[in-house]
Amino acid sequence: MAGSEPLSFTPLDSWLPLYQNLLIVAGPCSVENLHQLKTTAKELAMLKQVPVLRAGVWKPRSRPGNFEGVGEEALPWLQEIKKETGQRIAVEVAQPRHAELCLKHDVDILWLGARTSVNPFMVAEIARAIKGTGIAMMIKNPVSPDLQLWIGSIERIFQAGSNKIIAIHRGFHGYHKSRYRNIPLWSIPLTLKKELPGIPVICDPSHIAGDRRWIKEIAQKAMALRMDGLMIESHHKPEHALTDPIQQITPAELQTLLKQVIPAEKKDQTEKQLAELRALIDDKDHELLELLAERLQMVEEIGIIKKDNKISILQPERKNDISTDRKEKGTALGLKTEFVDKLFSILHQESVNIQQSIQKKEKNRPIDH
Ligand code: PEP
Ligand code: MN
Repeated sequence: MAGSEPLSFTPLDSWLPLYQNLLIVAGPCSVENLHQLKTTAKELAMLKQVPVLRAGVWKPRSRPGNFEGVGEEALPWLQEIKKETGQRIAVEVAQPRHAELCLKHDVDILWLGARTSVNPFMVAEIARAIKGTGIAMMIKNPVSPDLQLWIGSIERIFQAGSNKIIAIHRGFHGYHKSRYRNIPLWSIPLTLKKELPGIPVICDPSHIAGDRRWIKEIAQKAMALRMDGLMIESHHKPEHALTDPIQQITPAELQTLLKQVIPAEKKDQTEKQLAELRALIDDKDHELLELLAERLQMVEEIGIIKKDNKISILQPERKNDISTDRKEKGTALGLKTEFVDKLFSILHQESVNIQQSIQKKEKNRPIDH
């Protein structure tokens, strides 16, 4: 719909109960059995802050041979829970058949996972399956950091007649090592909000973190950035979960977390702007550190070659070339020469240290005759 009428989304508070203006979705990564589902759902329902129960029925696993979800059999269980607790039910659909089955079993909200929203053909097929039903849909960002692909999935669902749409920010696949399972790249959901005004965007800190230890800090950032809610994986016995056991938290832990991260009062505009810029700077700093780690890894490889070929560590000509080239590049980018100079002498020194320690290590190695 590029270039045409702006999409208009149904505001969240007109169809869902919110908690301090936020939508909280929680539930197990996967439905495993009726007992696990009931226990978790009932504990979550008691919290009152969670109007929507998420539950994976078909699980997209990277490798075959792992638990792939209970499948269709779980849908009547979810219908039963809905009657007992009054929660809305949300299920991931990855094929048109999943969507059809969910519609038959009164599932309230369907969601497209990150491995589905990345695929325009599959999104188009699912859109066909829900066409005209007006079913509510949550659309996770695609695994790859491609805003247009995310927008495209939202447009395809909108064109099928659903305007109860919620975007979910669940982080992106990154090539560098990071302590998070998926890198947040906050600028992407922030830009999505600007490109599609009125779209509710909630954050899924569970899949960004990949580890329950980091959920709180990510949720806090999402709140500082004024996201519209959170989707958090919760299981009554997380350590026994069949999928994502490391990142799930108990309903009691969820309650504590919500108290800690949800601000009682609204922050002002300046604080919001600062929070946005700080989040973007955090993204950049993490990228910088990842690049530095990669660069120094290469320095180490060069160190080994130098050692094996008895080449001296210090190569004045190379050092001068680097200095001239980086200053030129830096000034072209608007950086001060002195700053670039300082930065690269620190880097140079660190590289020399690394290569010296390689030489030392080799020298100290016991000789093997
Ligand atoms: C999930 O929510 O359990 C899931 C599979 O998430 P994602 O699509 O974000 O990987
Ligand atoms: Mn999961």
